[in-house]
Parts: sequence; structure tokens; C-alpha cells
Amino acid sequence: MRAREASRIMSEAKRLAPRLVAWRRHIHMYPEPSMEERETAAYVVEQLRSLGVEHIQTGIGKTGVVALIRGQGRKTVGLRADMDALELTEETRAPYRSRKPGFMHACGHDGHTACLLGAAAILQQMRERLPGNVKLIFQPGEEGPGGARYMIEDGVLEKPRLRAIACLHVDSEVSSGKVGLRRGYDTAQTDDIHMVIQGRSGHAAAPHKGVDSISVAAQALIAIQQFIARHTNPIDRKLLTIAQIRGGTRHNILADHVELIGTIRTLEPAGREMILKFVKQDLRKLVGAMGAGLRVKITEGYPPATNDDRVVDIFGEMGEKLLGKRNVVEVPEPSLGGEDFAYFGRAGLPAALLRLGIRDEKKGFTAPGHNSRFDFDDRRVLPIGAAMLTATAWRMLETF
Ligand SMILES: [Zn+2]
Ligand SMILES: [Zn+2]
Repeated sequence: MRAREASRIMSEAKRLAPRLVAWRRHIHMYPEPSMEERETAAYVVEQLRSLGVEHIQTGIGKTGVVALIRGQGRKTVGLRADMDALELTEETRAPYRSRKPGFMHACGHDGHTACLLGAAAILQQMRERLPGNVKLIFQPGEEGPGGARYMIEDGVLEKPRLRAIACLHVDSEVSSGKVGLRRGYDTAQTDDIHMVIQGRSGHAAAPHKGVDSISVAAQALIAIQQFIARHTNPIDRKLLTIAQIRGGTRHNILADHVELIGTIRTLEPAGREMILKFVKQDLRKLVGAMGAGLRVKITEGYPPATNDDRVVDIFGEMGEKLLGKRNVVEVPEPSLGGEDFAYFGRAGLPAALLRLGIRDEKKGFTAPGHNSRFDFDDRRVLPIGAAMLTATAWRMLETF
């Protein structure tokens, strides 16, 4: 990529700012939950058509949209954005706040979609010079159950075959105006856990004649945390959070059973195996020793996302070109959140996720993702995202 092209990408992105903001705010006002992104998908298609993009497919992975910008040459690379919102009531006072009570774009996917539309606009403008094709992937269901996997099953990696793929995610820990690079593990393996401790009901005043499942559950909870803290390598990041406990009916009856519901997050397969083995085998013995039974159901979620170094290097190089060296920062820690972008890497593609900084203390944009007050300075941030996606695709075409 020549310096002239890089500066044109940046100036086109800045020129697009009003449209980027309008796209994001429209999507923000009309959030849709995972796998139900019908209006959002229709809006994306409408905007792509208005930009003159010709090759558009709909209904990929149920509600996903795929568009192809044809440049010069046979190679194709991919850019991905997610479109789904969350079940949350927005508490910001923004004029563009959600018009659908109970639903909110609180993870920034509205911004991701706007950035990818912006990349479509710039790539379409510059396609005479673009050294290949770029497939734009607007996916459903990132928050669950994993729209990326459905789109892959529907053949999004083929025809034409992708050589590499990139995406971005807003990050409230990285300052607005900057982008964050993360090498290696970026997000965690997610497994949901549902346990039932089966005791035996009886009079609360005669605990020895029943099995008090609540006191057994308390022991189990402590045993789990102690196992992780004392029996697994603390350097290897992992956690098990019990987020929900249900049990008992009234003050004078021993609880017959208790449900413990939560999530396991791991990076290394060995850490995951240890936790699963403990829960399924040792914890059962411990619970059994107290006279109760244990049922465990594990629902496997997303695999860990590992960023490909070569794509991360491209992020760094393009970040320095477009934004200057001081606006490119390393993200020191992986997240224990899940991200279904992991499936693209799992499919064997060089893949990486770029963090788009949105933190702005002065303007009060500090709320983390999935919070009801989450918001960001779209006018400032979106042109950066659109330019970074465009330049990354361009450079991936030159590299892979
Ligand atoms: Zn999220
Ligand atoms: Zn997200």
C-alpha cells in the first residue's frame, strides 16, 4: 500500500463521519436480539445498495448478510462485524437511545456494523486500485449462540475462498482515538455450568433427619474456588463464577435441592480439563460424603480466540500509518469474555481482532460493555474503525 492510498483511506473515512454516525445511531435506536436481526440486516442491505455494492447475499447463517467488493486480482480476504444487541434497558440520555424497551446495543455492535459499512463505502470508491476482493461479513448472534459458526456452515469462507479475516471490537479500557493490539489469546473458552445438589427435605429443626442441600451447596462453592486457587497453576488464567443459586421453599423446611448456575472461562485446554474433572469427579465425592447427590451439566460455548501474529502486525503497521505511533497501544491482558469470532481462526484462517478505543473520561464515556449506560463518541471513533478495517483488508490482500 502506498502512502498516497493510506492517506486517501483516512481522508475518505473522515469525510464519511456524518454517514457513519447516522448508520450507527439508526442501528442503535432499533436494537434486535441475537438471531433476530431482520430489520438490521435489511438496513445493512439497503445501505450497501445505496453505496453501489453489487454482490450481496442475505440469509447466510439465518439473518447474516455477505457482500463482496470486487477489486483487481483473484485473492479475497474477509472483514466481519456483528449486528446483535442485548436484552437490557438503556439508561443513557442520548437522543439516539434505544426505541425498544428491554433491548439495547450495549456491546458496540451497532458501531462495528457502521464501521464495516464505512469500509464498504471506501473500498467501493477505491476498487480500481484495490489488489483483490473483500468479503464483508455482517453476522448475527455473537452474544449467543454463535452466528459466526452458522455463517461458516453456510459457506461464508468459500466462493471466493478467504485467505485471512479481521474484525474489530470497541474497548472501554482503550482510550478514544487509539487502537489496541493483542497478541496470542484474546478471549476465552466459555462453558456454562448447571449443577444440582440433591439433598433430602425434612424439618428445619431436625437437620440430621434430612440432607440440607443448602449447607452442602455452601461447601461445594468454597471447594470449587479453593480447588482453582490452590490446585491449578495461577499463572494460567481461568475462573469459575457461580452467578445464580436457587433452592428452598420456606424457612422451616430443609431445602430438597439447590441449583448452582454459572460459567467457566479458560484459556489453556489443560486448565479447562482440570476444572471439568474436579467438578465431575472430586466434587461429586465431596458432596456424596455429606449425603447429597450431584448432577452436573456442562454446555460448551465458544472456543478461545487466538490472534494471528501476522494480522496483528498488519493492524500495528496500518495503525501507525493512519493514526500515528502514539495511538497504537498493546493490550497486555486477554479478556475472559467469549467471542465467536474464534470460529474463523478455528477454521484455519489467519484471523485477528482489533480493539477500537472508546474510553473518554472527559466526555464521560467510561461504562463497560453490557452496562445500561454504555455509549461512546461515535463521531470520533467510527472513522478510525472504518479506516482501520479498510487499510487492514488492503494490506491482507498484499500479504496473504
Ligand atoms: Zn457482548
Ligand atoms: Zn461484543
